[in-house]
Amino acid sequence: MSTFISDVVDDDAITCEVCKETFKTDEITTDDFNFAWDNLVSVDCCSSCSPQVRQRRNFLLFTADQYYPSGGMSDCRGQFDTLQEAIDYVIRTQPMGWLDDTHVLEVGDDFIVHHIKPDTGTVEVSVRLKVLPHKDVE
Ligand SMILES: [Zn+2]
Repeated sequence: MSTFISDVVDDDAITCEVCKETFKTDEITTDDFNFAWDNLVSVDCCSSCSPQVRQRRNFLLFTADQYYPSGGMSDCRGQFDTLQEAIDYVIRTQPMGWLDDTHVLEVGDDFIVHHIKPDTGTVEVSVRLKVLPHKDVE
């Protein structure tokens, strides 16, 4: 179901940051306009401009034989376009008992770790990685 933009922002008009066209917020819906705060596009923009600024997301699957992780990138089993594709792959290729310690790292402008529940293959919790302040190596 779509919502009028006027229901989510206070302004009477909103401007696409790509084509600079201005829209009345009571005439367009959330299907017509994308906000950067949703992390799908890098700037606020209309839907015709959104493919130009869509944020590319990659999903890296990490899983290991139960009790025998190789460690780090050695447990990375591949890159997927969506979280569901990564989960489907691990369910298809790993015996259920081996789903322990399965994580999917979502990589975009930020990084999100999805912990996959061992028995069901569903997402148990998703955690956005904190950006740590840079430190000089001592
Ligand atoms: Zn536009």
